[in-house]
Amino acid sequence: RRAAARARAVSRGIVASSSEVEQSYIMIKPDGVQRGLVGEIISRFEKKGFVLKGLKLFQCPTDLSQEHYKDLKDKPFFPKLIDYITSGPVVCMAWEGDGVVASARKLIGATNPLQAEPGTIRGDLAVQTGRNVVHGSDSPDNGKREIALWFKEGELCEWESVQTPWLIE
Ligand code: ADP
Repeated sequence: RRAAARARAVSRGIVASSSEVEQSYIMIKPDGVQRGLVGEIISRFEKKGFVLKGLKLFQCPTDLSQEHYKDLKDKPFFPKLIDYITSGPVVCMAWEGDGVVASARKLIGATNPLQAEPGTIRGDLAVQTGRNVVHGSDSPDNGKREIALWFKEGELCEWESVQTPWLIE
């Protein structure tokens, strides 16, 4: 019954079909894993009301980290950034929901944790740009690109959260 209601909502343009719903690639960096912040960080996205579509603990190889951060390859900090991201396991996540990309960036806070607002993940949990605990895609297009980069076919789950009707009128 729920599936039928959803199909009607999709056809009436009230709800985007799953393939159209925005997704963001969120990654807990090695410092977040080492510092035992995995549960805390996941919890913030869960409580907000986004839907988790993919999740794995993963040791990132150098070439993948370079591809992920390719726009920063000419920055002086690039070699240190690659060392940091590959220094231990990361937690890779695909989160879904309307507006998730911009909202996740707000939940995460400014790149420099000392400038990040209290209440944000970086504002509450970190002190340095080079150890800022979490990554979030900066545009819906990059969300798609990064999820395709970090997840293999079949690693994302298509499922409906029972919370959705209580989050979205
Ligand atoms: P964001 O992660 O907030 O989108 P950027 O895309 O500008 O920020 O940078 C990507 C990541 O590179 C940052 O999250 C941080 O880990 C690292 N980084 C950025 N600037 C610096 C810097 N000046 N020194 C060290 N690391 C940096």
